Amino acid sequence: MKYVSTRGAAPELTFGEAMMTGLARDGGLYLPASIPVLGADDIAAMAGLTYEEVAFRVMRPFIGDTFTDDEFKGLIAKAYAGFGHIARAPIKQLAPNHFLLELFHGPTLAFKDFAMQLIGQMMQAALAKSGKRITIVGATSGDTGSAAIEAFRGLSNVDVFILFPHGRVSEVQRRQMTTPSESNVHALALDGDFDDCQARLKDMFNHFEFRDSVGLAGVNSINWARVLAQVVYYFTAAVSLGAPHRKVSFAVPTGNFGDIFAGFIAQKMGLPIEKLVIATNQNDILDRALRSGDYATNGVKPSISPSMDIQVSSNFERALFEALGRDGATVAKLMDDLKTTGNFRIPQGALEDLRATFASGRCSEEETQATIARVLAQSAELICPHSAVGVHVAEDHLGTVPMITLATAHPAKFPDAVEQATGLRPGLPPRMADLFDREERVTRVPNDLAALESLILERTGRA
Ligand SMILES: *Cc1c(COP(=O)(O)O)cnc(C)c1O
Repeated sequence: MKYVSTRGAAPELTFGEAMMTGLARDGGLYLPASIPVLGADDIAAMAGLTYEEVAFRVMRPFIGDTFTDDEFKGLIAKAYAGFGHIARAPIKQLAPNHFLLELFHGPTLAFKDFAMQLIGQMMQAALAKSGKRITIVGATSGDTGSAAIEAFRGLSNVDVFILFPHGRVSEVQRRQMTTPSESNVHALALDGDFDDCQARLKDMFNHFEFRDSVGLAGVNSINWARVLAQVVYYFTAAVSLGAPHRKVSFAVPTGNFGDIFAGFIAQKMGLPIEKLVIATNQNDILDRALRSGDYATNGVKPSISPSMDIQVSSNFERALFEALGRDGATVAKLMDDLKTTGNFRIPQGALEDLRATFASGRCSEEETQATIARVLAQSAELICPHSAVGVHVAEDHLGTVPMITLATAHPAKFPDAVEQATGLRPGLPPRMADLFDREERVTRVPNDLAALESLILERTGRA
């Protein structure tokens, strides 16, 4: 299995190489040269299996000979052993024909643990084979950072640096990043917003001399291995509601488009998905793009669902590449337009193609609050603001096939918003009860590439 860049001008890589590389050298994102298809029998045979067994069957065709079957099974087992629920991704019913897929039972209480715990295991195993040392740098609007730190803390061949927007993550999110005491963990509070963090990260990857000197590796949601890990729960959820004999739809609270793009891959693999519903908060570039055909940035407005506060949605490039019939040169041109003018027009054919698979909707701050309150009143479930965005938008798209809304974080990660909406303050699970007593360790950094690079060189002993 070979991996190709969405901009068509980077070397083809193996799965292991694409995982270590993250962003391609032409600025593009890696995708498999072709997407393996599972037959209806293969999907039907997943009924009743453990999450780990389904994970192996779904991901195995993508990893080539990076790991043997036994190695890969071992890594999957370790990745999910620390989850607080035996089903890993359990489903609850919310309303007639509307279901909630709970993706917040991992160590940092958000869905990003599904991908990060596995990528941590896979990178460690690959580094152990090669004897190399790498520097992970990630940008986060909150949940990626804590998930990455949790996955890499204490690993001997890895330094992990996480950039988060100063003052724009919740206290639980910040403490999950700043309280681990291992010396290979570096939490950096950047003076700027999430898009600034993401832009500086991209700059580092495009600075090849720096990239090579520190062995830079990315674990942001553009990393293909992360997308792949997220494909699995689309299968477990759909199969438990009757796939492949019955179709389902998914509503996905969306920021960087990684989670919902995993659903797109599941559909391409043969899972009968009717619609993938993009749910955005007031940072609604994706909803506007799908409706109008104009992908146009207009700044970031901080919201009560901060993990979706984005201006540009990195993984959308992958969907665009597919919708353009894998025309990397055109993707490169559109991305260039975006960089220079802040917008681009989605070609008409590609737009129709996207609309055949994706629907979309937007949820205001007031609607988010009202949805949290209403779901508690109607279904006795306390949900986080991101999940509420998903539920609100999903309700506009209910039909005859079951709708599954992804619950992307535990309500206790966003206690202020949940309390404001319901009067109830959700408590942390017992294993995290002392989070507010632990000592914090964080470095404030300017929004400046040179300053960031010299800090990383110094901390990794290379200055
Ligand atoms: C990251 C995140 C999202 C958005 O996921 P994308 O893959 O970036 O679209 C939604 N909800 C929560 C809680 C998150 O942490």
